[in-house]
Amino acid sequence: MAKDYYQILGVSKTASQDEIKSAFRKLARQYHPDANPENKKAAEEKFKEISEAYEVLSDPQKRSVYDRTGSVEFEPGRQDFNWQDFTHFSDFEDIFNRIFGGGFNTGGGSGFFSNFSNFSNQGPDLDLAIRVQIPLEDAYYGTSRIVKYKRNKTCEVCGGTGAEGGQLDICPVCHGTGQERVVQGQGFFRMVSVTTCRTCGGRGKVPKKICPNCKGSGTVSVTENLEVKIPKGAPNNLKIRFKGKGQALRNRVGDLFVILNISDAPGIKRQEDDLYIDKEVSFGEAALGTDIDVNLFREKLTVHIPSGTQPGERIRIKGAGMPHMNRSGSGDLYVRVNVEVPKKLTQRQRELIAQLMEETPKKKSWFSKL
Ligand SMILES: [Zn+2]
Ligand SMILES: [Zn+2]
Repeated sequence: MAKDYYQILGVSKTASQDEIKSAFRKLARQYHPDANPENKKAAEEKFKEISEAYEVLSDPQKRSVYDRTGSVEFEPGRQDFNWQDFTHFSDFEDIFNRIFGGGFNTGGGSGFFSNFSNFSNQGPDLDLAIRVQIPLEDAYYGTSRIVKYKRNKTCEVCGGTGAEGGQLDICPVCHGTGQERVVQGQGFFRMVSVTTCRTCGGRGKVPKKICPNCKGSGTVSVTENLEVKIPKGAPNNLKIRFKGKGQALRNRVGDLFVILNISDAPGIKRQEDDLYIDKEVSFGEAALGTDIDVNLFREKLTVHIPSGTQPGERIRIKGAGMPHMNRSGSGDLYVRVNVEVPKKLTQRQRELIAQLMEETPKKKSWFSKL
C-alpha cells in the first residue's frame, strides 16, 4: 500500500532536508499522543505515520528508493514501519524534553520516556567464576591447585584499543556518544532504551586501522594456568578473588573468582570447623572401656572410650578438628560411639550374657536398653 510521505509531512516533492525536518518537528508537537489526551489513539496513529514519513524522507538513500518505487523496505522483505525502524530519537531529544518535561535521558521519572534505561552504561560484567572441587582432606592440610581456564586477555600489541598503533577515529554511527537508541514493543513508544552503539561497542571511537594481532577486538583468547592456594581450614563455598584475571574488554578487565566446593570425606562429617566420626565398639568395650584407633586423613589417633560409654555418646577430642582458616587453633573432633549388639551368639556367649544379667538385676540398666 503506497503512502504519500510528502503529503503526510505536508512538504513538496522537492523539499530540502531542513524543510522536511522542520515539518516533522511541527507535526510531532501537534500529534504527540500525550498532547492529545482526549484523542490518544488517533494521535498515536498519526504520530507513527509522520515518524515513518520522516524516517524515509530524511534518509537520502531511502528517499531516492521511495521516489523511484513508491515504497521502502525497512528490513529486507518488510515494508511496514514499526518503532524499531525509527532512528532519529536523538535528533528530537530537545522537542521531547520541551514537551514532556525533560524525562528523556534521566532513566527515571514519570512521563513519556520513563522507560529509558540509564545512560551511564557500565558495560557487561567481566568477572568470571570457576568452581573447583576440593576433597576435605586438602582443606584440612591446605594445598594448592592449578586451575586451567580460558579468558580474553587485553591485546598487548595495541594495548586493548583494537587499533594498529592505538590510533582511533570518532565512530561514524554514534558520533562519539557510544550510544544508540532502540525502540521496542508494539504500538506507541512502549519502550525506548539506550543501548551501547553496536558499531564501536560504546567507545565512541573506531580503529583507524585494525590491529592485526587481535583483529580489532582489543583482546586475545588465552588459556590460563593459575595456581590457587587452598588455605588450611577453607570452608565450603570459599570465594577466592584474583584481581584482573577475569575477562578483558579492551582496557577494562574483570576479576576471577575461584569458588571452592569442599566435598565430604567418607565417614567424616564437617560442621564449621568441627569434625564428626562414627566408631563402632562392642557392648563389652563400651561397658569396660577401651582405646580405639581413629583414622583422620593422614593422622592416626588413639581415642580412649571410657567405661560405661552410652550408645550414641560423643567423645570430644579438643583441637583435633579442622584448622581455623585465618587464625591459630582448630575445631574439635567428635567421635560418636555406636555400640554394636551382636546379632548371632554362640551357645557359650549366650550363657555368659545370661550369667551377666543375673549379676545386674536392676531393670533399666544400660544393658537392658540395648
Ligand atoms: Zn559508535
Ligand atoms: Zn590488538
